Formats: sequence, C-alpha cells, structure tokens
Amino acid sequence: MFLDILFGILSAKIINMIGGEDLDLIILGLSIFFALLPDIDVPVELYSRKGKLGGKTETHHRQLTHYPIWYIPLVIAVTYYFGIFWGFLLAVNVFWHFLHDLNGTGWGIKLLGPFSKNNYKMFTNKDGTQNLRQLFIKWTPAELTDTMQKHGDPYWMKNIMFNPKSSTFWFEVAIPLLLLPVIVFLVLL
Ligand SMILES: [Zn+2]
Repeated sequence: MFLDILFGILSAKIINMIGGEDLDLIILGLSIFFALLPDIDVPVELYSRKGKLGGKTETHHRQLTHYPIWYIPLVIAVTYYFGIFWGFLLAVNVFWHFLHDLNGTGWGIKLLGPFSKNNYKMFTNKDGTQNLRQLFIKWTPAELTDTMQKHGDPYWMKNIMFNPKSSTFWFEVAIPLLLLPVIVFLVLL
C-alpha cells in the first residue's frame, strides 16, 4: 500500500514532466488513487471479516478487481474521454500495482482471470517462500487452497507486514513511509 502511494506520486511527477501538464494536487491524488485502484476490494474484506485480511482461505480480496483484463477497456475509455495523459497515468499505475502484487506479499493474482482461476506469482516457491530464480509460479485453485491451509497466516499483518523482524516490514512499510515526506517535498518543489 505505502509503496503504491509512493509510486503514484513519482509516476505523476514523471508523466507530468513528459506530458507537460501542470502538476497539481488533483493529478497527484488521482495518480495515487489509480495506483491503489485494484485494492478497492480491501475495505470490503476488512469490513466483512471484522478487520481480517487474507489468511488460510481465499476471500474477496484479489479476485474480480485484480483481473488485469478489465483495465484495458477502462484505459481506452479514459484515454478517449479525458486524453492520453490520463489514460497513460491510469495504465502505468495499474500496471505497477499488478507488478507489485505479483512480487510482494500474498499469493499473487489471477493474471488470466476471468478465463482462468489459476494464481500466478513471481520469484516465489510453491510454498510461498522467496526464490529469485523462479520467474513465475502457478497455483491451481486446489493447489492454492492446499498451500494456504499449510502456509497461510491469518495474522500476517501483525506477524509479517508490521513486524520489524521481517524484511517485508522494511520494504513495504518502513522505507516507503520514511521516503514519503522526502518524495512529496521534492515533487512539490
Ligand atoms: Zn492489490
């Protein structure tokens, strides 16, 4: 989430420099919104599961809103109605979000949904541990159910995401949060 926000700010600045639009808070805000857009399923899950996200079974998160194919007509429509600057800003941020989900926490995404229910992830072993030599891995729904039962952690936010002993905490939370004010300052200069 914090990495996505950081990317949203940086991409707004870079695309603004290329596209020549005046960078303002609307562009910055929408760029961050685009970088987080597929995660609109997170509040739904947090609400329906009383504050829990992920764990040992598949739920709402990373289903429909994480099928990349939906974003192709959306990018075309945004480009058609609002221009290439906005279409490009949306495309770059959503592409980043999926690249992040294919690499970061969790069990990847259903890259070919709705045509395939298989999950894909990069640089990961079948048990979810990191393996930089394994470019892509696939879990069928049955394999994913089995793997989540064995290796899923219902308290991963406490045990991994917000645990200073885990590298995930530093890459996903601490470093992005430390960089955030610096990047905002540099971008708004
Ligand atoms: Zn996501």
